[in-house]
Amino acid sequence: MEVIKKIAEMKEISLCLKREGKSIGLVPTMGYLHEGHLSLIKTARRENDIIIMSNFVNPLQFGPKEDFATYPRDPDRDNKLAESAGVDYVFGPTSEEMYPQGYCTYIEVNGPMVEKMCGKSRPGHFKGVTTVVLKLFLITQPDRAYFGQKDAQQAIIVRKMVTDLNVPVKIITCPIVREEDGLALSSRNTYLSSEERIQALALPRALSAGRDMILKGETDPLKVKQHITSILASSPGIRLDYVEVVNGDDLSDLSAIKGKVLLAAAVYVGKTRLIDNIDLEV
Ligand code: AMP
Repeated sequence: MEVIKKIAEMKEISLCLKREGKSIGLVPTMGYLHEGHLSLIKTARRENDIIIMSNFVNPLQFGPKEDFATYPRDPDRDNKLAESAGVDYVFGPTSEEMYPQGYCTYIEVNGPMVEKMCGKSRPGHFKGVTTVVLKLFLITQPDRAYFGQKDAQQAIIVRKMVTDLNVPVKIITCPIVREEDGLALSSRNTYLSSEERIQALALPRALSAGRDMILKGETDPLKVKQHITSILASSPGIRLDYVEVVNGDDLSDLSAIKGKVLLAAAVYVGKTRLIDNIDLEV
C-alpha cells in the first residue's frame, strides 16, 4: 500500500491505472477508522481492481463552533488498518494541499434535501461535503465510490450531485455497522464518557421503536416521529437535535408511510453530536 499526500501524484497514478484499464473504487473517509469504514473498504475490494481510500478531515464541512480541531486523528493506525483491509492507495492530503491560498470554488446541491436534518442544524456542511467529494472524484477518477448509510443524507446528496453534474461515478451505499448493543459505529463515539456511552443507546432504541410501530401497521409519519421524539426527550443525558420520518430516496416529506422510508435522528449526548437512522421498505 502506498500513502500519497500530493494531488498531482495521486492524479498521475489514477490516470495511469485508468489507461491500463483498471477499475478504481474510492472510499472517502475522515480517518480514525472503525469497522464501519472497513466494511466499505471490504465491499469496494470485491468490486474493483484498485482501492483508493482518502483520509482527509475536511475543514470545509465543519462549522466554526464544531469539532474540526479536536476531531480524532491517528493516520499511522489508519494506514495499518487500511492495508490489512486491502487498500492499495491512501490519499491523505493536507488542508493546504486541497484548499491553497485563494481557493474559492464550491459545489452546492440546493433545495429541500439539504434544508432539513443535518443541513438545517449544520449550515454549510453539505456544501463542504459536495465540494470535497467532487474534488476527490476528479483527483482519483473512481468508477465506483462507497458511502455509508450511517450518513444517509450525505449519500443522497452526493448521489444527486453526481446525477445533476453527469459525473461518471457509481455511488454505492453500504449498510450501517453497529456495536453489539446497537450503537452505530462512529469516530465521534470516542468522545463519549462511559456514562454517556450508555445514554447514547437511547438513539438506536428510539429509532427501533419507530420502526416497530411501522411494522405493526402505523401509517402516519407524524405519529412515528412523535413516538421517537418522546422516547428521546425522556431519555437521561439526551438533548434532541432533530427527528425525521421521510422518503428514503430523496428525503421528501411523506403524507403516509409507504415505499422507502427513512427514520433519522440527531442528538447531543453531553457535547457529542450523534446521528443515526433506520431505513425500511413498506
Ligand atoms: P467519516 O470518516 O465519518 O466521514 O465516514 C466515512 C464513510 O464511512 C462515510 O461514507 C460514512 O457514512 C461511513 N461510515 C461511518 N460510520 C459508519 C458505520 N457505522 N457503518 C457504515 N458506514 C459508516
